[in-house]
Amino acid sequence: MTVMAALLMLCCIAAMQLVAAAGLTKAGPVHWLSLVSAAGLVVVYVLIRSGYSQRWEDPALTLFQISSSILCTAVAYVIMGAARGIVLPILAVILFFGMFGLTPRQMLAVLFYGSMVFGIALAIAQWSPEYGGQPLALTVAYMVMIIVVLISCTFLNLRVLAARKKRNELTQAVASEHERAIRDELTGLYNRRFMLEVMHIEGARAQRSQQPLLVAQLDLDHFKVINDTHGHAVGDQALCAFVRTVTECIRPTDTLARWGGEEFVLLMANTTVENGERLLERVRAAVQASPVVLASGAAIHLTVSVGAARLQAPQEMPVGLLRRADAALYAAKAQERNRVAWADDLIEA
Ligand code: GH3
Ligand code: MG
Ligand code: MG
Repeated sequence: MTVMAALLMLCCIAAMQLVAAAGLTKAGPVHWLSLVSAAGLVVVYVLIRSGYSQRWEDPALTLFQISSSILCTAVAYVIMGAARGIVLPILAVILFFGMFGLTPRQMLAVLFYGSMVFGIALAIAQWSPEYGGQPLALTVAYMVMIIVVLISCTFLNLRVLAARKKRNELTQAVASEHERAIRDELTGLYNRRFMLEVMHIEGARAQRSQQPLLVAQLDLDHFKVINDTHGHAVGDQALCAFVRTVTECIRPTDTLARWGGEEFVLLMANTTVENGERLLERVRAAVQASPVVLASGAAIHLTVSVGAARLQAPQEMPVGLLRRADAALYAAKAQERNRVAWADDLIEA
């Protein structure tokens, strides 16, 4: 942006020097204005590139650059004599720079400031003994055009800002809506719908890479008793505590989802049965060893039963695999619970 502003300024300086060289205006003030504006730009460039401006609220110095450029433009309006009309497009370009760093409030402040500065410039160009003397109609015509530029550029900037804000809000809303669609509200885990998608993707990946894929169904034991004894709210608290315990035991490549109620599904990608056994046993033991302590000081002891299965063929994903894990869970429940059971094919093996 600063480089672009520098190019713009060089063009302005060249145009002013041309006018001065042609004798259309006094050369001295034009030289001074060229020098001061170029020096100002160098200072801004150094402040930004050195990182010094980072300690300020507006590190790009947008407001400072815009207000000082407007001041230079107003001075140019006064000293350019018959060629003062060239400042109008420059004023518009300067105002458009505001789109990249100003807040709506700052844009309105710039509009007010620009009106003041150009009001004074118009008055000087009309009535000063040195630069004045142009027909009043011309001054009025310039005034009208300056007002048009100031107001229309500010209005367009505000429209762009509003559209950008709306777009950002929309992007955020879509992101949070998506998050809501894939998460379980109580535990924050992935929900069943999203887990089914993950299972399809991981199933295809396992098939391609010829890596083993395991799935486990976890179901809390006698959870109804906890609800009946302590109430639903405590049951919810216990579910969240259970999720925290399990999450601490699993690896980043494992995916845990709440399947519904007090049932969870754990997908273990790229995991051998041996490693899966170790991991699930760790989960089971951790749940048993992590009672949920209530505000009253009472502790609720949880245990979990787990049924696990290994993907055999890609076409059984996810229904067949889940069915076999579920059958294993049923077996774990039948064997007094608080244990990990494996699907039939693995027991036979
Ligand atoms: P089992 O060992 O056979 O699994 O016994 P269980 O009592 O855990 O099994 P059952 O399926 O009979 O009961 C599950 C209970 O989980 C019943 C229901 O009230 C409770 N539950 C399901 N979802 C929630 C929930 O979101 N919050 C709470 N607090 N309880 C829930
Ligand atoms: Mg249960
Ligand atoms: Mg259940």
